[in-house]
Amino acid sequence: MEVAGKAAMDGYEIPRQKMVERLRGHYGIADERVLSVMNAVPRHLFVPEALRSQAYKDNALPIAAGQTISQPFIVARMTELLELRGRERVLEIGAGSGYQSAVLANLVKKVYAVERIEVLAKTALENLRGIGINNVSIRNADGTNGWPVYSPFDAILVAAGGPNLPKPLIDQLEIGGRLVIPVGPDPKHQDLVLATRTETGFTSENRGPCAFVPLIGEHGW
Ligand code: SAH
Repeated sequence: MEVAGKAAMDGYEIPRQKMVERLRGHYGIADERVLSVMNAVPRHLFVPEALRSQAYKDNALPIAAGQTISQPFIVARMTELLELRGRERVLEIGAGSGYQSAVLANLVKKVYAVERIEVLAKTALENLRGIGINNVSIRNADGTNGWPVYSPFDAILVAAGGPNLPKPLIDQLEIGGRLVIPVGPDPKHQDLVLATRTETGFTSENRGPCAFVPLIGEHGW
């Protein structure tokens, strides 16, 4: 498939490919579209320069403002759970470095990303534009309120952990739309919850433990 923001021969082909083999083999990621996008997006350009050599390893890494770029596995898992087909408009909360936005941007029509820390919102957009990704809009705001003017969304991905499901996000989902979010009573450890909007409310499933930075805001911590 054509991937926007695809890395040229950049010297990271081998570690990137190993990362993808690990996602498929060890972690059981099965969505080949997700794997193929992650085999193309230059993750090293979304981490601080001093950490570039670690960009394709199996862990989260620090970015500015005490935040983190999520572990490749969790990016793949959350993206896979949304079962994206290509025509969707997706809301992402917690743009951080912009890496997850870059992955989504290649799988859907349009990504609306919200980031509460101004410097991150700005660099995320620079990172995306820098590799030629143009179908992501980023807003500096509290994402627990969603982004009402562009709602409803076909899918919503929240990359920070909250105490429960923020109601505005459920309300801004299309019927049948999916929301993936880390939820738990402890700000540092959560369970990955997959919620699906129904005519009358929503259903939700627990997809296992995870550890995210806290979702801070009106409907978060
Ligand atoms: N998806 C990001 C992960 C960033 S970590 C990446 O690929 O790099 C989670 C981010 O959520 C942090 O940048 C944090 O500032 C942000 N965040 C926390 N609470 C938020 C809120 N209420 N609204 C928007 N962003 C929030």
